[in-house]
Amino acid sequence: MKKVLVTGGAGYIGSHTVRLLVSQGIQVVVLDNLVYGHPKAIVDESVMLVNGDLGDAQVVNQLFSEHSFSAVIHFAAYTYVGESVENPLKYYENNMARPLALLQAMQRHGCRQFIFSSTCATYGEPQVIPITEQESQTPINAYGESKLMLEKVLDDCYRAWGLKSVCLRYFNACGASEDGLIGESHDPETHLIPLILETALGKRDAIKVFGTDYDTPDGSCVRDYIHVDDLASAHYQALTYLQEEKPPLKCNLGTGQGYSVKEVIEAARAITGKEITVIEEGRRAGDPAELIAAPSLAKQELGWVAEKSDLHHILKTAWQWELNRRY
Ligand code: UDP
Repeated sequence: MKKVLVTGGAGYIGSHTVRLLVSQGIQVVVLDNLVYGHPKAIVDESVMLVNGDLGDAQVVNQLFSEHSFSAVIHFAAYTYVGESVENPLKYYENNMARPLALLQAMQRHGCRQFIFSSTCATYGEPQVIPITEQESQTPINAYGESKLMLEKVLDDCYRAWGLKSVCLRYFNACGASEDGLIGESHDPETHLIPLILETALGKRDAIKVFGTDYDTPDGSCVRDYIHVDDLASAHYQALTYLQEEKPPLKCNLGTGQGYSVKEVIEAARAITGKEITVIEEGRRAGDPAELIAAPSLAKQELGWVAEKSDLHHILKTAWQWELNRRY
């Protein structure tokens, strides 16, 4: 049976992926320092959770000595864009420097398959929508830059010692598992959909719309919302890809369809049956007007397409989670 090390497996996208891997008969060890991860997000008893840091050479080397991993899926990272602008060193340290200890342990122990959580933030302000992988990568914040740097590290490791990687550039992750057992839980929460739903629940007075004067049909920002279970399945397909004699791959994970902030709020009103008060605010620093993926490379190379990412299903699962959150 295949065994995979998942860093950040107690986090949002990581935990959904871990469940999918287990359901496919893969043995999983999760390495998570639990700074943002939730032990309760790991629901399968077969999964071993190691509370440790991937930047700790002793911890990672011991893991590779004890287990024979065929691949590593690396989720663990800080993801607050605003914080990355205010405190860039925290992001370069955690997202770029610390994974080097993990990669060194992989090299030492002969593990040469790596799947990396990258992001559409590596494109910065795209020139062409929908965004293809040929778009220039010029991030506008330290979060995107730290992810792009690690993509480059992976390229160099491929040339030097044959590390094969798949970099998955996520668009806007959202939604929750259909059975309501796991879902999105950030502290602080900054993402649009959970904040809208917390407003619907009465935990917040209003949802702020950051910017209504963008060059978009209704003036609010447009994003490509992708269900977390679709992201999870892309990781599973990336594992299969890595077993074939193919070159490293970098591809977008999105639907190719965008929704504005105002459209998402309107759809949430329909799903929840709640009023949801809106306050129109100025633009949030660092927000591009429109981010929509061209998803064809992922389809061509991984055989992946988004199947659970219609806005109705995203909001339905996220709302069910919000009503009965376990953590
Ligand atoms: N947004 C908003 N109000 C909020 C949070 C987010 O209007 O309280 C907007 C944000 O400006 C962006 C979109 O919703 O245009 C998605 O933001 P989110 O933080 O969810 O994801 P991001 O696109 O930053 O990764």
